[in-house]
Order: sequence, then structure tokens, then C-alpha cells
Amino acid sequence: MQEETIEQLIRRAQEDRVDFVRLQFTDILGIVKNVAIPVRQLERALRQGIQFDGSSIEGFARIEESDMILRPDPSTYCLFPGLRPEGRTARFICDVYRPDGRPFEGDPRWVLRRVLQEAAEMGFRVMLGPECEFFLFKRDADGRPTVQTQDEAGYFDLGPIDLGEDARREIVLALESMGFEVEASHHEVAPGQHEIDFRYDDALVAADRVATLKVVTRTIAARHGLHATFMPKPIYGIAGNGMHTHISLMAGETNAFFDPSGPYQLSGTALHFIAGLLHHARGFTAVTNPLVNSYKRLVPGYEAPVYISWSAQNRSALVRVPAARGAATRVELRSPDPSANPYLAFAVVIAAGLDGIRRALSPPESQDANVYRMTPEQRLRAGIESLPGSLEEALEELVQDDVVVRTLGPHVFARFVEAKRIEWDVYRTQVHRWEVEQYLGTF
Ligand code: GLU
Ligand code: MG
Ligand code: MG
Repeated sequence: MQEETIEQLIRRAQEDRVDFVRLQFTDILGIVKNVAIPVRQLERALRQGIQFDGSSIEGFARIEESDMILRPDPSTYCLFPGLRPEGRTARFICDVYRPDGRPFEGDPRWVLRRVLQEAAEMGFRVMLGPECEFFLFKRDADGRPTVQTQDEAGYFDLGPIDLGEDARREIVLALESMGFEVEASHHEVAPGQHEIDFRYDDALVAADRVATLKVVTRTIAARHGLHATFMPKPIYGIAGNGMHTHISLMAGETNAFFDPSGPYQLSGTALHFIAGLLHHARGFTAVTNPLVNSYKRLVPGYEAPVYISWSAQNRSALVRVPAARGAATRVELRSPDPSANPYLAFAVVIAAGLDGIRRALSPPESQDANVYRMTPEQRLRAGIESLPGSLEEALEELVQDDVVVRTLGPHVFARFVEAKRIEWDVYRTQVHRWEVEQYLGTF
């Protein structure tokens, strides 16, 4: 880090009267981790990084290689909102290094950085706009989260019935104070369900923001006595939480997806990118939808995608091309959910699209009919496949997709698959309430 940057940051922390600095990073499973240091350690953190024990972080490292260094990314400095009683807190997002100065290949942020480097070598800057959905649930008398919503509102409804609105407003203000440009925040379809959309930005910034948004949302919801959850499908029979992701590529100052003379005014690059997304969709789903529970969301009837198709018109498609053209030309991938590690999810999705460009893949016909109304035979004839139906199936697909495997790299790949296989196995051997209700009396 440059001397000037270090001095600027230290001065800024003084002006902000910071007492503590949170050094934030994300483990392989997407859990945000923090190391808090008193502000007098900031200079050392900026110059040398802060050492921590990587073996205590899920999926990071074995005991033998456990020393890791956190290096704050200077561009991510901001004040962490609303923690006054504990002292004023600033936060940095960090990259993880080995003591010998090499980037740690188990750091999800590094995985995304590598893909963005590949994109840059191909002449592209990747821009992302994620839409994070979540529920605000009540807590019980002991403060434990429930699945009870506290409002009956629906899509875009406004208070007074939307009691979560106060909490959401404060969340939005907090995010804006951290430099987010929140473009929309609204009540979603289900009772207690909300969405916050911030302006699209560089993919790395967008991933950092998703990680931060989850922490801030949970923190502020808790202060309102609520529990915020990004669990993909907390309640059977109502909509789940998605993280639709809008993607565009910039080539210099121009949007590389836009071509006024192309089909649907899309460039060859856009069509190849879409083809890459569809081609690798079955392979990357374990990463974009990493929980057993993720697959309870990917079912017909709740605006979540099931079938692998794209459309410039139909909202039910896995890949939708929103109507805006020119600088706003983009594709929306609708399968990811907010339980995904944003760094890994964005990395595999971008890699899939780039692979489509490299291999000049062509997408199938755009499916403007509602694929959900087609019979299985019609879908078969149209060559429309489904996303994996379970975490188990998704893992089987993941290990066979070379592009996804290569993107994760051997370290993250091995740890991720190992952890997810265990998760599947624990789930598979449970006896669920549904089974007891269904079978106990009859058999
Ligand atoms: N909640 C829906 C999902 O699970 C998305 C609703 C929407 O279109 O925003 O993906
Ligand atoms: Mg939504
Ligand atoms: Mg959307």
C-alpha cells in the first residue's frame, strides 16, 4: 500500500473519531467474519496486515498452514453504522494472504479477483447488480428467531400494514451512509418479505456489498426486535428469497452487450455470454444455490426459475433480458439465492458467461412462451432442461463442470464439495415431520 494512502486512511479514521476497526472477510461457505482491532493498530494493519489463525475458519486451512494475513483493501473503508455504544467503528474488507506474501487460494475474494482478471484480459470489465430478498421475522420472548411474519402486506404495499418498513428504512439509510447507492427497496410478494437493490457496480464491489448488506440488515433488524433471514425458502407454500443478478460487460466506455443491429439489439458477445450461462447452469447451481433448502425455492409457482431457458420477454426464464438497451443493456440471472457466498457465486457465473464468449457458443431460441405451461414432452422437444432438483444432484453436476471446478480452484473446490456432501448426508438421514405425518398412520 502506498505511503500516501496509509497516511490518508489514518487521518480519515482520526477525523471520524474511530475507536475500533473491523477487518471483514468471508469464509468459503459465505459467512462474514470479523477481526476487530483498536484504532491504534490501524497503521500496523495497513502496513503489514493482521495475522490470524486460518485453521479456525471454516474451509480455510489445516493446522499446519494456519497462519494467514488479513490485508485491508483501502477502497473499502467506511464507518460501520449504528454501533455507537461500543465505540465508533470503521470497517475494511480484506484480502487474505499467506505469510510469504502470496494470496491465499482459499479466499473467496481471490477466486473472484482471478475471474475478473481473466475478463480484463479478454477486454471486459464486469458490472453486476444483485437484488437481495429477505424476510423480517418476529423473535420470541427469549429473542430467538421465529418464522412468524409481523405484517400481511404484499408486493410494493406501503405502511401502516408494512410494519417492517421502519426497519427497512433504517437499513437503507445505514447502507447509504456506507456508500451504497440504494436504487429501490420495497416489500416483496410474501408477507414479511423485503428487497433492497443497489446500483450496479464492478463485480468485486457488488460482492463486497452483498456481504455487507447481509451483516447490516441482520444487525439493524435485531435492533428492531426482528430477525432478518436470507434463507432461500423459510416457509413452505410462499415465495422464497432470491438474489437475481443483473450482469453486463463493459468494453472501454461502451456496453459490450448492446448492438442496435443485432437480434433483440443484443451483441454477439451478449448472446455468447447467455449461451455460456445456460450451458453451465447445471454446473454452477451448487455454488449459486448452496443449501439443502435452496432447492425448495427452485420449484414452480413462486417466480423462481426451474427450467434452463432465456427470454427477452418472459420473466419466468432463468436468464431474462430486461427491456432497457443502450448503456443499460444487461442480462438478469434469476436462479442465485442470497445464501450463496457472493464472491464464489459471482465468480462461477461470470466464468460461465466468459466461457460462452471464448467458445462462441450460441444460445438456443429465446423462449417467449411460458415454459411452466408447457408439458414435459413439449419441454423435451424444445430441448429445455431443468436446474438440479436437489443439492445432491447439483453437486454431481458441479464436479463434472470443468469451467466451474477450475474457477473455484483445487482448494476451494475440495473444501466446498466436502462440506456440502456432509450437509446433504446429514439432511438425507433425518426423518422429517412430513414423513411422519404422511406415513405413520398408514404403514
Ligand atoms: N422471490 C422470487 C424468487 O424466489 C423473485 C421475485 C421477483 O421477481 O423479484 O426468486
Ligand atoms: Mg424481487
Ligand atoms: Mg429481478
